[in-house]
Amino acid sequence: MYFDTIAAVATAPGEAGIGIVRISGEKALEIVDKIFRTKKERKLSDFQERRLTYGYIVEPDTGKKIDEVLAVYMKAPYTYTKEDIVEINCHGGMIPVRRILEIVLENGARLAEPGEFTKRAFLNGRIDLSQAEAVIDLIRAKTDSSFDVSFNQLEGGLSKEINEIREILLRMLANIEASIDFPEEDIETMTYEGLLDEGNNVLKRIEKLLDTVYTGKILREGLKTVILGKPNVGKSSLMNAILRENRAIVTDIPGTTRDIIEEYVNIKGIPLKIIDTAGIRETEDVVERIGVERAKSLLEEADLVIVLFDVSKELTEEDMEIARLVKNKKVVVLTNKIDLPPVVSREEIEKILPGKKIIETSIIKGEGLEVLEDSLKEMFFAGEIKIKDNTIVTNARHKSLLLKAKKNIEEAIESIEMGMPIDCIEVDVKDCWENLGQITGDTVTEDIIDKIFEEFCIGK
Ligand code: GDP
Ligand code: ZN
Repeated sequence: MYFDTIAAVATAPGEAGIGIVRISGEKALEIVDKIFRTKKERKLSDFQERRLTYGYIVEPDTGKKIDEVLAVYMKAPYTYTKEDIVEINCHGGMIPVRRILEIVLENGARLAEPGEFTKRAFLNGRIDLSQAEAVIDLIRAKTDSSFDVSFNQLEGGLSKEINEIREILLRMLANIEASIDFPEEDIETMTYEGLLDEGNNVLKRIEKLLDTVYTGKILREGLKTVILGKPNVGKSSLMNAILRENRAIVTDIPGTTRDIIEEYVNIKGIPLKIIDTAGIRETEDVVERIGVERAKSLLEEADLVIVLFDVSKELTEEDMEIARLVKNKKVVVLTNKIDLPPVVSREEIEKILPGKKIIETSIIKGEGLEVLEDSLKEMFFAGEIKIKDNTIVTNARHKSLLLKAKKNIEEAIESIEMGMPIDCIEVDVKDCWENLGQITGDTVTEDIIDKIFEEFCIGK
């Protein structure tokens, strides 16, 4: 496959220690030889490859120095793109990187499209599609755990599992072909039994991957957690206590609206996206401020609700209303202010919210918070989650392909059980194989590939 030579700034815009301009393609070294000189007037190609070389970017005609840099030449195929790559490390900041990029473009490179370096790594066969998608997930990861999952995917964790399942499907197809070629009775019975075993095996493995989707979603987006309670029960105090102990992971969260504050925290490895009205003065209570309807829709989306009651005061109609709102949700109940003389008993709370986990807290004294954090973890991940060695599906595209593949294999199994003609079964097995192949990019179409890489940033 022939590709032209592309270039882009690989580092983030703005002021920084260094900036990197990356060039990939056959002409990478030739271009840099025109514009790079050391103090002793030597070119980059005068040096050993993969050696970071100190020098200047200069204007080819005048020899005028543009910036002081370190440049390195990495020879194909052992590079990010599997092509020749030159990277120029210059001073960080808008001007140096822009000037160097301009001069690189003037001397024969084309500005890279978003994700084009990674796209080449895929098209040149260094990584498959799910690995390429992992690259963007790594860059976007907001939590340690979602980073770990993406890293596993980049290392080929998902690809390996998909490829193994597809091998079984290929074996099934081969058996089907064989029995079409030799359609004697006894071969056919054997074929059907074998197909059924293998079909069930495929189904089991696809289901196992699909089982990870919910975990994947939580790791990626955070567990949507709503804090609910009437005014003055201690919601803001809880939010602050959680934030204090579990450093917010990101601040630039899209979707933060003025009436709902979302904060990401990391509790015992679980990313929580806490939705609260903290930060809004005066009326802070969700129900009161944004109305019952709005609270209901917030609750609908919630993976978890933390409900607070103030046990130093009699329960009110408002408490009852809140209890009614959450009775069908995953709930942790905090009976707060246990440091004060109690007025409400645990039994009373159990009565209005039967079967829910109740934790006694004094947020102001930090009591019960550790228990809260432990129970959150228990509720969502029974047992230890070993993200690092687990293949977890986080990508919506993968999920929908797995669902299609599941349907295909289920239909194939049904046809086998019903003793349908073998070529009917063949179609479903083939579709299953193809749908799974779209995950790794083996059977994917060009427009899907384009769409995936469009989401990348320039320079990656
Ligand atoms: P919100 O309206 O639900 O957000 O409640 P706040 O977090 O603003 O707390 C209301 C008041 O209750 C504040 O004065 C807090 O200091 C106090 N408070 C919160 N938690 C406790 C607690 O566990 N014990 C006691 N005694 N006071 C608390
Ligand atoms: Zn508050």
